Amino acid sequence: MRVSHLNCGTMNPPTMSPIVCHVLLCETNDGLVLVDSGLGRADFADPRRMGPARFLTRPARADAETAATQVEARGHSLSDVTHIVLTHMDFDHIGGVSDFPDAVVHTTADEHDWAVANPDFMSKQRYSQKQWAHGPRFETHAGPGDGWKFGLSGIEVLPGITYVPMPGHTKGHAAVAVEPDGGGVLFHAGDAVFDASSYAPTAPSGKTLGKIRKLRAFEKVMAQDGKKLAGNHATLSRLNGEEGVTVFNAHDKRIFDDLA
Ligand SMILES: [Zn+2]
Repeated sequence: MRVSHLNCGTMNPPTMSPIVCHVLLCETNDGLVLVDSGLGRADFADPRRMGPARFLTRPARADAETAATQVEARGHSLSDVTHIVLTHMDFDHIGGVSDFPDAVVHTTADEHDWAVANPDFMSKQRYSQKQWAHGPRFETHAGPGDGWKFGLSGIEVLPGITYVPMPGHTKGHAAVAVEPDGGGVLFHAGDAVFDASSYAPTAPSGKTLGKIRKLRAFEKVMAQDGKKLAGNHATLSRLNGEEGVTVFNAHDKRIFDDLA
């Protein structure tokens, strides 16, 4: 499996530096696999599709950043994307799925339940149901999974791609571990952490990471269960110290710029 890092949506929250939507494009023997999907073409064509949360993060229209456009720019067709593995279903992670109607869309069972099957008042406000109104083929993954690595449990979604449940930001949020050819683990923490300095003193290049207080405050505001955040940060910090593991998140542009 070969893996590329894509930014599938730049957003400009008020009074903050720009943030990204960090997506992985995995070229596997079984077609292309996306980890998260960022914002999609339909979101830019009709911003109302993204729901009210767009006013908090202010996505910048950039069709060239959509996963669809970046997949095509690499010489693939949209139907080459066979699977999309979502960390969770907030608008800036699921928006791109409608550009790949043939793909199987993976979520945890908890996330699918809260967002799609049995939404409550909170999840109805939070998620933008229009983004899955086209009826994607969801495949859900229940439970904590079995023993994976580094003392964590995980659920194998596809060969070399594993869900590591990490709720807190949303009810069914999960990190996604990807094991490319050549070894190592790319650990996509999704929105389990917003400010990378919460789990790492330096970026992968060695640059010191300063605290971004506004991003930390924003993380607390968006948390479905804020009590779980510190535990997730501690797990990510421990993983980041493991040989061969690269931890990154969805939105910290400093880490994306280092890895892309
Ligand atoms: Zn997000």
